[in-house]
Amino acid sequence: MPSPPLPSLHATHAGIWIAGRGEDGREASRGEAIARAAETPHIILNAPLVGQRLGYPDLSGLDLLELFAFIHPAKFAVPTVPGMCRAVGIDPPSNETEAAAALRRIAGVLLDVLEQPDWAEREGAWTSNQSLARMGWGWAPLVNARLERPERGERMLYSRLKQWEETADRPPPRTIIVPPSAARDRLRELTGARSELRSGQAAMAEEATTVFAPRRQKDVPNMLLAEAGTGIGKTLAYLSPASLWSEASGGTVWVSTFTKALQRQLDAEGPRLVADPAERARRIVVRKGRENYLCLLNLEDALQGAFSGRAAILAQLVGRWAAFSKDGDMVGGDLPGWLPSLFRRAGATALTDRRGECVYAGCPHYRRCFIERAERAGREADIVIANHALVMINAARSREIAPQRIIFDEGHHLFDAADSTFGVTFGGQDVIEMRRWIVGPEGKSRGRRRGLAARLMDVASYDHEGAQALEAAIEAARAMPSDGWLQRIIEGSPLGPVEALLGEVRGMVYARAKAQDAGYGLETELAEPDGALVSAAAAALESLEALQKPLAALSRRLEAVLEDAPDWLDSQARARVDGAINGLAWRREILSAWIALLARIGGSADPEFVDWLAIERAEGREYDVAIHRRWLDPTKPLAKVVLSQAQGVLVTSATLRGGDASWSRAEERTGAVHLDCSVGRFEADSPFDYSACSEVLIVTDVKQGDLAGLAGAYARLIEAAGGGTLGLFTAIQRLKAVHSRIADRLARAGLPLLAQHVDPIDAGTLVDIFRDDPRASLLGTDALRDGVDVPGESLRLVVMERVPWPRPTVLHGARRMAGGGSAYDDAVVRARLAQAFGRLIRREGDRGTFVILSAAMPSRLLSAFPAGVPIRRVPLDEAIAHVAAAGTVVPVTMREPVT
Ligand code: SF4
Repeated sequence: MPSPPLPSLHATHAGIWIAGRGEDGREASRGEAIARAAETPHIILNAPLVGQRLGYPDLSGLDLLELFAFIHPAKFAVPTVPGMCRAVGIDPPSNETEAAAALRRIAGVLLDVLEQPDWAEREGAWTSNQSLARMGWGWAPLVNARLERPERGERMLYSRLKQWEETADRPPPRTIIVPPSAARDRLRELTGARSELRSGQAAMAEEATTVFAPRRQKDVPNMLLAEAGTGIGKTLAYLSPASLWSEASGGTVWVSTFTKALQRQLDAEGPRLVADPAERARRIVVRKGRENYLCLLNLEDALQGAFSGRAAILAQLVGRWAAFSKDGDMVGGDLPGWLPSLFRRAGATALTDRRGECVYAGCPHYRRCFIERAERAGREADIVIANHALVMINAARSREIAPQRIIFDEGHHLFDAADSTFGVTFGGQDVIEMRRWIVGPEGKSRGRRRGLAARLMDVASYDHEGAQALEAAIEAARAMPSDGWLQRIIEGSPLGPVEALLGEVRGMVYARAKAQDAGYGLETELAEPDGALVSAAAAALESLEALQKPLAALSRRLEAVLEDAPDWLDSQARARVDGAINGLAWRREILSAWIALLARIGGSADPEFVDWLAIERAEGREYDVAIHRRWLDPTKPLAKVVLSQAQGVLVTSATLRGGDASWSRAEERTGAVHLDCSVGRFEADSPFDYSACSEVLIVTDVKQGDLAGLAGAYARLIEAAGGGTLGLFTAIQRLKAVHSRIADRLARAGLPLLAQHVDPIDAGTLVDIFRDDPRASLLGTDALRDGVDVPGESLRLVVMERVPWPRPTVLHGARRMAGGGSAYDDAVVRARLAQAFGRLIRREGDRGTFVILSAAMPSRLLSAFPAGVPIRRVPLDEAIAHVAAAGTVVPVTMREPVT
């Protein structure tokens, strides 16, 4: 295992180390490290992170993560030195000094793989490395020296991907009943329980059979709300009747989650349901929104020159991954989450179909397209593991058959998912996308983003009316915002009516808004607009209508051309026209929503909706100006479009009643309240004995607003726990301030501190690193409060900086007023506390402490915590003593009887 003849550089908050050839590694100053890295390329691990640690963001070198992604595409690895050591099968270093030398050893092992005859990911490597060499990829010469040229030319990526087959539509599912006793027997099989089952889990499996019974009334599904405390084993409880029903009826059950973490977890349960991998791949399918998947046509563009510099290197590595990926899912699938962040601004997002530019059957890769494959596989599957947004969009749009049997896990998030799915945003970024789709990109942009005229050239030369509609649409789209729109409105010189409206919106927001989180978003209610805004909205509305009409006419002409089928309309052209019809339908839907939104400005308010104006900012920089519309109660469209169209719906969660044990709240938040039927209820308490394994400490002497005191409290608590801490913040600024004060101190004590919004790493990877190292701690905001699933030793302390009151936004204000004032706020906080506490105890054997650094915690909200958990109000010193002693607390045990 010869190490490459290059030095290595390792940097953390605790210091900087370098290791030359034959050296064990030694500590270096920042100045020396930067000078040496500028002189000679060093082997590093995660260049953006190391650059940030050095305070030298332009640091470049040979990044081990890139080499790993090249040699083992689609293989999971935690992007730390110990994580990479484990991934390549060598012993992790025992200290930071050894870590620098370990980088060279990891590189040596990885380069050795290139010479192994049984290297599974060999195909395509030589060709890809030739391209990477031309792009100046640092590893390319070292790879080239070890990689034998294949005897025959390698197959192109596209020909190595599986094609999907067209199949006949599946017949409707047979009408059957799943007996509760059968669900119980299936549960026994799935859990491997030889004798008794856990009572809560068994009862839930039996009760869940009700949603698979035949529907009794039109537009009224069989619906069950099930609150199943943590540890019940609700996943297998609902999969038991679901799998029985799909096998016997020939139908599909959609299991929908809110977080990618649960989606992954459900996928991991697959082998219990179907042992044979090939059979499993057919019967259990993961589906996500199309923007998650690699678009092969975008990749082809990128590989053929649309990307340059670092982005082109990323495209090559994504190309390597595509050939070995299970399903082409770039976000939370088997593409390492850390890979895109190594390339900073050069975004992986341009490789997905974010802009809705898919040309469907007109695409040369259509038969190999990951998105199309996933969609078709879903039609044939017994179980589709999806997310709430996709289920709602599929039900709302007619492109696919609406899901008929749905299990919403993480059901406490249905309200939020419906809120964003059924909301409307009219902002500069959205309108410019619409313009680009119609007119094509401005400037010297390369690739296939060519606008409608180029895509429909043959139709336009054949059909006069179609050509006129197309011309009129392009003319109208030119009145929409173009590149540089934001700068122009900031300077007060907007172009066209929509830019003028956005300029008025911006002015009104600055005039009326009160900053809540300096440097971040600003907003104000859309009420009593001044005359200038009303006139600008009327002019913008006219220009949107001027666009909508020719788009509608064009859709009609395209449909007529397909019907007439002229001689030149071969299958390619037909596919292209088909693709344009689909794209037009989507744009027209968006335009209608925008027109309805603008038509309301200056008129009377619609009590069903909440409208507001916003300037989107990040760290003081503006990036968008928009008008937003949300349903006051988004479960209304949820009930109408999704629930009432389904035959059976199960909504489940550990905190469905939001921490205040109120079924009426559960019915309101899930849309059940809008259905004309009685909805089943089921509850099973957690089997964990929380009183023995956890406690809640409310710290009484950390003053609100005292940042130094807050940071000191975090540092001391993390030290007392020896890491394993999840720190939750309600404001990004405070998170950053605390992190910058304590990260070095903790790192020197061997306690790494990770932070969302600080480390240049995606949230999923931060959680992977946190899970992997029991001495690490992680600071984060909302997403971590709800989506972290870290059982075991790695998470033993949760620290909340404040009572998580909702932000006083316009939307919140409207819902608060409609929902009972302070009682509404209390319900929100209880739900958040219950969620945050839920991170602590995930499985048998877990233990931990939950700390709130706020004396202002009202006692009435403490019912959010599970019954029996000891709750104490203590000064910080005492809290630290409790946390230090918590290592002696008995791990959680089951207290539930078996049946
Ligand atoms: S069919 Fe659409 S999404 Fe799929 S590869 Fe082609 S353009 Fe991309």
